[in-house]
Amino acid sequence: MVQIDSVHLPPKIQLLIMSAIHNFNAGPSILPKSVFEEASKAILNFNNTGLSILEIGHRTSIFQQVMDEARALVKELMQLDDDHEVLFLHGGASTQFMQVPMNLLDDKETAAFTDTGVWSTKAIKEAKLFGKAEVVCSSKDSNYTYIPKDFAVPNDAKYLHLTTNNTIYGSQWQKIPKTSNSMVADMSSDIFSRVLDFNSFDLIYAGAQKNMGPAGVNLVVVNKNVLGKVKRAIPTIMDYRNHIKEGSMLNTPPVFAVYVCMLTLRWLKAQGGVAAIEKLNNEKAALLYKAIDESPLFTGTVNKEDRSKMNVCFVMNDASLEEPFLKFTKERGIVGIKGHRLVGGFRASLYNALPISSVEVLVKLIKEFEKSVA
Ligand SMILES: *Cc1c(COP(=O)(O)O)cnc(C)c1O
Repeated sequence: MVQIDSVHLPPKIQLLIMSAIHNFNAGPSILPKSVFEEASKAILNFNNTGLSILEIGHRTSIFQQVMDEARALVKELMQLDDDHEVLFLHGGASTQFMQVPMNLLDDKETAAFTDTGVWSTKAIKEAKLFGKAEVVCSSKDSNYTYIPKDFAVPNDAKYLHLTTNNTIYGSQWQKIPKTSNSMVADMSSDIFSRVLDFNSFDLIYAGAQKNMGPAGVNLVVVNKNVLGKVKRAIPTIMDYRNHIKEGSMLNTPPVFAVYVCMLTLRWLKAQGGVAAIEKLNNEKAALLYKAIDESPLFTGTVNKEDRSKMNVCFVMNDASLEEPFLKFTKERGIVGIKGHRLVGGFRASLYNALPISSVEVLVKLIKEFEKSVA
């Protein structure tokens, strides 16, 4: 690839160079180009105030509008009912691993967990600090290549926890299990990618940096009726009720991250919302999995019916070809497809903002590479 000092080129040319890159990063990851453009304008002059979005108070009416719109867009796009509150909190999904049980689980109570990968395992570990965590199913025996199907959830389990999409292993719950228990879900890597009955969950959390915005903010959707039931004292900043009372402005929120989330949610709405993007996501995933399944060189790592539409994991039958394939694609603008070390091979993340044209380029390169080694 030609190395150019792109900083000194006219913006139009810079954009052209950028558009030759196909960003399959797992997270932080691709966001819509229009969002980057608008966000960079807001850094210099936010809404013609002459001020940067980075230097205004979070209690000003201009930022209040941003927070209000971001929360309203989440409600609208997820079609949430009045019991479900929307919060933008610090700390990423990992903080929710502890904040959820701190708010929902008493020491003597049990929460049920599905163990479908690294992130589930981490959520289980933290829950044990606050109560009992019972693992009701696990696909650990096969390096998490499938989603468990037959399992029972104890009636008295305070909630059932799911990781709806397993970012590292590339599996996804295609059907949300039916249970009479309260449900809690980590949707970090497939939030806003598909239509689900979001109101059937009492708590949903997601780090923004996979499919919603930049790193540094966390979306929490919580049914307010499940709060205030535990006996322990909860530190002020950890208690969801305080955040709800203050309209998600208990303390200084990550203002820029929330702003960029708002822009991304606006973009999503303009695309036709979650149902429309789901259709496109299905097409993108089908295209890539088809190429993998037809290829004599590649194999998908996950059980077909459990494959993720967001993170496509695959390996090469001849592992010695993996480095050359990585180099081949990199030289042709493909970024971020090296697999996680726990799986090896490749992982192509197909988040909402990734255009189908990028998937078409990757598929074309798979075919070209096949010919070159045949
Ligand atoms: C990335 C990820 C996390 C961790 O998010 P942080 O924001 O880094 O804490 C948790 N769960 C899932 C499913 C993820 O993909």
